[in-house]
Amino acid sequence: MNLIIFGAPGAGKGTQSAKLVDQYGIKHISSGDLFRNAISNKTELGLRAKGFLDRGDLVPDDITIGMVKEVLQGLGSQGFILDGFPRTVKQAEALQIVLESVSKPIDLALFLIVDHKVLLSRLVGRRVCSKCGAVYHIDSKPPKVSGVCDLCGSPLVHRPDDQESVIANRLEKYQEFTAPLRSYYDNLNLSVEVRGDREEKLVFEEILRLSGKD
Ligand code: AMP
Repeated sequence: MNLIIFGAPGAGKGTQSAKLVDQYGIKHISSGDLFRNAISNKTELGLRAKGFLDRGDLVPDDITIGMVKEVLQGLGSQGFILDGFPRTVKQAEALQIVLESVSKPIDLALFLIVDHKVLLSRLVGRRVCSKCGAVYHIDSKPPKVSGVCDLCGSPLVHRPDDQESVIANRLEKYQEFTAPLRSYYDNLNLSVEVRGDREEKLVFEEILRLSGKD
């Protein structure tokens, strides 16, 4: 199973990806996580990407495409879910070429649709485990112990780009560069829309139904 999950920041891509990974045994490829890991490991890629993430801007296509291409080429026979990539038409075109070269066609492009107000409140209250990446929300999904991950006991963090000043830019970038990919995947007959403003479990059940494995 090879999937792409789209949605504005805060739409629930990471949460649903984790469930799909459990369900299908596929690899989660999150371009945002790859960048954040590179930044915390202070690699050359991380140093080049940091300023873009801090501002909520898109990292240039050539850097991003090279990074994801390497992961896709190392997958072997495992399926994948792409989360946060592609984000521009140029990235989508490059992705088609890479996937063709490794004979891994996309089965489905899921588009999570969430109202702007809901996105804002999710992002402002979102807390993420600094170690395992588990996602919480201070009101709707608090951890058992404040500031501590239920799953691995590590500290939770408020992502610097989830601060209100950066969120607006990230949402604008999504509208400008990524939302147009809907018609790109419509033309390939791969896109399906899922309302993401419901309980996680309901969203997941619908995704399973749409991917034909419920
Ligand atoms: P995310 O975790 O998907 O919200 O990504 C966090 C940040 O990483 C984005 O705001 C961008 O700065 C950068 N980023 C992630 N994926 C991409 C991409 N496909 N193209 C350009 N920048 C990206």
